[in-house]
Amino acid sequence: MKTFSYLDRKDNLKKFSDGYFDLIIVGGGINGAGVARDASMRGMRVALVEAEDFASGTSSRSSKLVHGGIRYLENLEFHLVFEALSERQKLFNLAPHLVHPLRFMLPLYQDGRVGMFKMGLGMWLYDALSLFQAPELHEKLSFTESIVRMPMLKAKGLLGSYIYSDAYMDDDRLVQETLRSAASFGAACANYCRAVGVDLDKNNQVRGITVRDELANKEILIRGKHVVSTVGPWTDQLGERFFPGWKKILRPTKGVHLTFEKSRLPMSSAVVMAAEKRIVFGIPRHEMVIIGTTDTDYPGDPSEVSTTVDDVKYLLSVTESYFPGAKIRKEDIISSYAGVRPLVGDSADTAGKTSREHTIFTDSHGVTFVAGGKYTTYRLIAEHVVNHCLKKYAVEDRVRFHRSNTNTPINPLITEDSFSMAGELKKQIIESISLSAKELQWLMDRHGFEALKMINQHGNNFDYVELEALHAIHNTMCLNLRDFYVRRMPLFLAERDHGLARLASLGNVFKTVFSLSDGELNEQKTALQKYIERELAWKKVGF
Ligand SMILES: Cc1cc2nc3c(=O)[nH]c(=O)nc-3n(C[C@H](O)[C@H](O)[C@H](O)COP(=O)(O)OP(=O)(O)OC[C@H]3O[C@@H](n4cnc5c(N)ncnc54)[C@H](O)[C@@H]3O)c2cc1C
Repeated sequence: MKTFSYLDRKDNLKKFSDGYFDLIIVGGGINGAGVARDASMRGMRVALVEAEDFASGTSSRSSKLVHGGIRYLENLEFHLVFEALSERQKLFNLAPHLVHPLRFMLPLYQDGRVGMFKMGLGMWLYDALSLFQAPELHEKLSFTESIVRMPMLKAKGLLGSYIYSDAYMDDDRLVQETLRSAASFGAACANYCRAVGVDLDKNNQVRGITVRDELANKEILIRGKHVVSTVGPWTDQLGERFFPGWKKILRPTKGVHLTFEKSRLPMSSAVVMAAEKRIVFGIPRHEMVIIGTTDTDYPGDPSEVSTTVDDVKYLLSVTESYFPGAKIRKEDIISSYAGVRPLVGDSADTAGKTSREHTIFTDSHGVTFVAGGKYTTYRLIAEHVVNHCLKKYAVEDRVRFHRSNTNTPINPLITEDSFSMAGELKKQIIESISLSAKELQWLMDRHGFEALKMINQHGNNFDYVELEALHAIHNTMCLNLRDFYVRRMPLFLAERDHGLARLASLGNVFKTVFSLSDGELNEQKTALQKYIERELAWKKVGF
């Protein structure tokens, strides 16, 4: 696969000013990435700009689940569940290194809202809506079986539980890999490039956008046939910036997650804590356990969203009520993260009820907007968005670009078969490299066969985290230490010291590749420290 690095960014900025594009995409979260991949695979000339780092918005702040959404069954939104379950199945094939099957336990209590029988029907329906293609079908467990499976679980009032299948993923990396795939089909993408204005012709129709290269503080005009906004929770901000008199369409809500060491909350499967109307998940992953999420109205600036003491207290109290024996305290929390759901306003009376369906529309100036929806269905949303945009094109373009074909692995080095074979290969190469078996396993889990390429390219001189850094710089357009710690590897979220013990060695990698002066390197380290302090400011408040 082609590189996707800071050098490509430089080339792409030049293409932005010199070229003419079939589609200009504003926003590099999962929806922008999905649209870029879909459109470039159809043969369209694509430009994508992202104001900050790729996936720095909601797409790195989700529960990191690829799921049908068991709770939508309660709202009778069967079509949403069916669509999401079928996309889940596709994502297992598209990105087996980023999307992993996970079993979920749903414990039921005497004072709960739903009994065993009704939940059993729901479970059957969930399997049926996946066309019985789930990695494993659901199981019903008695009281004793549930406690044996999850000894930490509150026993008082427990009726039994159901176990069902869904999946967890690396939300940020899926964005980066989707963009890398789009780039290999010719899309010109750049991070730290903010859309600041719109260029209209004499009929008030869009013919380009002005962007600011945030690193060089320079403006560039990008010209093209059509512009699509995939800025998620920033939709109303962008609308207001582009078009005076814009009418707000979003009803954003905030969601907070906490992270813990796996040893502190050992879970044999994910747990669905559904005592209240709002569901809180406990999600064990390769590197950590995540607890979340909250769901409260958030009318503020999405760039300013943060975790509050009340968010933490709420999530701790739910965890405490389901796992009283674990005696979880705030000191056990490693990190937290907060995100904004770009929900499209409807008449629902609570944030939790607002529909998760996406909206696509083209405004009177010819700009197409997409907002809402779930991460899980991004591939399908992208297909719908490009089809919608094509309505604005000349007939010959519509014919030329009509076929969407994104059902192929996003990284050709990592197909489902090759991913399972990579484990076998590990045994053969472990003797010849300086990594430990555990470190090699980590690389293989995250990169499949591409791990071998990483080792071959950079030799035996680096430890596995440094190899990750080199990979991130050359293949995911990672430009600084903060973006590496926060989105390329889960150091900030998963490690007790947020990975800061590795700062000197990782700093050296960045310093060498980017030829940074000592002062520039220190600036990057300070930016990382500030980020951590801001995200975890609630830890300084006594409670
Ligand atoms: C707490 C929470 C939990 C969730 N959990 C799940 C889950 O487990 N599973 C699931 O399927 N879905 C989940 N979702 C929903 C899912 O995460 C979102 O639907 C999805 O990430 C939205 O992606 P997006 O690309 O539309 O927006 P974003 O990821 O926010 O991307 C928009 C991008 O636009 C950029 N931008 C803004 N202004 C400009 C500008 N002027 N110029 C250029 N770029 C700009 C931003 O920097 C941002 O990167 C969750 C959402 C939240 C908030």
